[in-house]
Amino acid sequence: MAAMNDVPPIAERLSRMIQLPTVSAELDERGTAPFDDFVTLLAELYPRVHAALTLERHTEFGLLFHWRGRRSAPDGPLVLMAHYDVVPVDESDDWTHPPFAGVIENGSVYGRGALDDKGPLIVILEAVESLLADGFTPARDVYLSFGGNEETYGSAAIAIAAALQERGVVPWLVLDEGGAVVDAPLPFVPGRAAMIGVGEKGVMTVRLSARGDGGHASAPPRRTAVRRIARAVERLGPGTFRARTPRAVSRMLAQLAGSVAGPARLLLRLLGALPPLSARIFAALGGEAAALVRTTVAPTMQSGGTAANVLPSQASATLNLRIALGETVQSAAARLRRRIADPQVAVEVLEGSDPSPESATDNAQFALLAEALGVSHPGVPAVPYVMMAATDSRHFHRFAPAVYRFAPLEMSNAQRAAIHGVDESVEIAALERGERFHRALLQRLQ
Ligand SMILES: [Zn+2]
Repeated sequence: MAAMNDVPPIAERLSRMIQLPTVSAELDERGTAPFDDFVTLLAELYPRVHAALTLERHTEFGLLFHWRGRRSAPDGPLVLMAHYDVVPVDESDDWTHPPFAGVIENGSVYGRGALDDKGPLIVILEAVESLLADGFTPARDVYLSFGGNEETYGSAAIAIAAALQERGVVPWLVLDEGGAVVDAPLPFVPGRAAMIGVGEKGVMTVRLSARGDGGHASAPPRRTAVRRIARAVERLGPGTFRARTPRAVSRMLAQLAGSVAGPARLLLRLLGALPPLSARIFAALGGEAAALVRTTVAPTMQSGGTAANVLPSQASATLNLRIALGETVQSAAARLRRRIADPQVAVEVLEGSDPSPESATDNAQFALLAEALGVSHPGVPAVPYVMMAATDSRHFHRFAPAVYRFAPLEMSNAQRAAIHGVDESVEIAALERGERFHRALLQRLQ
């Protein structure tokens, strides 16, 4: 007799993963036990993976599984990436189900990490475990790279990438989190699309500071430290950086043109064919559209002065920049200095990481992703885009040319909003299709 509650095993296993609170930002409070338990749980849940693949630990939190292929391809292995740490839960948030209970209800698994990134991680392991049960061996070497501190910009993925690079292993294809199968990829484009990140913007934090003579506020000079900083910030308007449409965005527009009818189709075609035009239009639209085509500058903090009636002897502002593909931390800092054009304002880069290169979309790797998608999500087009956020895969992108950011899971707009938010959940059917994607990918690998 079948059980009353027939829960698919993949949901049970994801639930157990969610029940381990691997919150990397709360390592000090929670200790390493959830992380150690997670590694132990993987060994229990995936015995074939642990028997057939070798496992190396890199730093305390990096796991690197190596699956030897039928031949050793000279052009490198496949690397499937995911991370098993999660972001904290805000105690004041009201979750429908407790975030670390792993509740399974109405065909979904609920909890922190369901989509980011334990869901994407589990579909990789399920695919490998089930292929091993079939006696399958991949055509070329496959690595599974799992980091335990992605959310805190930790070193696990850096160490794994460095280890492979030292051994002269240059991956043929790297696949990490990022895009997903989404509804309405652009505000006016209906239908579903598999958004595949082919690059990610860089990020940098800059401090502007100025000093001036203090004194009484009753006889102010023309230019105080506060005025200098205010003027500098004002000079860093939206036009600070040149707008340029990445190739991937042009291809995205051309492809999405196929999903709409009428004048919208014509417009998307035109924008896709004329990058200088799309750059100008998106820049003029501002917001997310502008962020697609240029380096953005967001002043996030400003301070100066000590009392209401005393001239400020110092003032400062903090800027957060997202650097467009094709630029660097260095070139962006130089541009800021030129725009501010005030030698009395010091421009100091507090931290920064360059944007990634852009992966091609007309190569065998992208074609393979589209082919696997045809098996798991028939009729859903593979559409390239550029990510605004950072992923662990950027450490590979420094030396591997074909890096893509995509988790083969359906994510509605509401579900995407729940990532790093409240009521994160994943549908069990989506997990099953995700597993199918990775099986197809591994089977078609040459
Ligand atoms: Zn993530």
